[in-house]
Amino acid sequence: MQCYLLGSGGMMPMPHRRLTSVAVRHEGRVYLLDCGEGTQVPYKEQHIGMRDLNLVAISHKHADHVLGLPGMLMLRAQMPDAGPLTILGTPGIRRFISNVRADLGMHINYPIDVCEWKPGADGLAYEDEHVRVLWYELEHTVRCVGYRIEEKERPGRFDAEAAVKLGVPRGPLWGKLQGGQEVQTPSGDVVSPDQVLGPPRRGRHVAYATDTRVTPKLQPLLKDADLAFVESMFESGMEQDAAEKRHMTISQAAGAAREAGVKKLVLVHLSPRYESSSIKRLAVDAQDHHPDVRIGRDGKLFELRLTD
Ligand SMILES: [Zn+2]
Ligand SMILES: [Zn+2]
Repeated sequence: MQCYLLGSGGMMPMPHRRLTSVAVRHEGRVYLLDCGEGTQVPYKEQHIGMRDLNLVAISHKHADHVLGLPGMLMLRAQMPDAGPLTILGTPGIRRFISNVRADLGMHINYPIDVCEWKPGADGLAYEDEHVRVLWYELEHTVRCVGYRIEEKERPGRFDAEAAVKLGVPRGPLWGKLQGGQEVQTPSGDVVSPDQVLGPPRRGRHVAYATDTRVTPKLQPLLKDADLAFVESMFESGMEQDAAEKRHMTISQAAGAAREAGVKKLVLVHLSPRYESSSIKRLAVDAQDHHPDVRIGRDGKLFELRLTD
């Protein structure tokens, strides 16, 4: 599972920092989290296939999170055989897409399935054979949701010794057991998967939370995530500014992630006030609040490997 941090800035694209967006690539599919102005540029720079783009999840309808969507939809329409695309977002995202399509006379040659979050809809938003995408309401100046991409549980470890003892010879029958099917041994005994498989193994979980003030609602979203991208618009000490603008400081973001048990934390949606030269200072600030944290850098790839 690869997570490309396409941009790490907030409010407006800057020469040194693009707008916050993450592309998660898994099993040949791409799940794009937010699509602000110009997101298609880093998307191309990272050589992420447009055909693989399977889902776009928009956190909220602020320009810095959604204005890149029309261009991305048009770019995808340049392929003759792009498959269906799912778009998740807050109420009104469907209208935004249909208006922009009509106003710009966009020719889209693939089906788009738009799904809007509704009050009380926290939890499962989308599911395919490889992942589940969950959404949780956050607290911002407008309706905003965070997303969590969970790789589905993998079957437990296969006990080859047990299989042989039960009379299942090495070969295609092993594959069937690993795939969850019962098999019959050459001597006629029936062997079920639970006799040779360990407990299911947890998949990899990635969380994405921007824009929000500090809120207990972050906890279920970030809970035990292997990797989390969390906004921190301001440095620690600027809690007043953060509260007014409904954003977080580094200490608030890192504190919430630590409380939730986030293993690796990347801070994103940095204010345009921070030049590249400030990053070192922000990193020192962050390290006081979380054991494995870094300030997001555009173009950085985070590879989540299986640990078992
Ligand atoms: Zn924003
Ligand atoms: Zn916003």
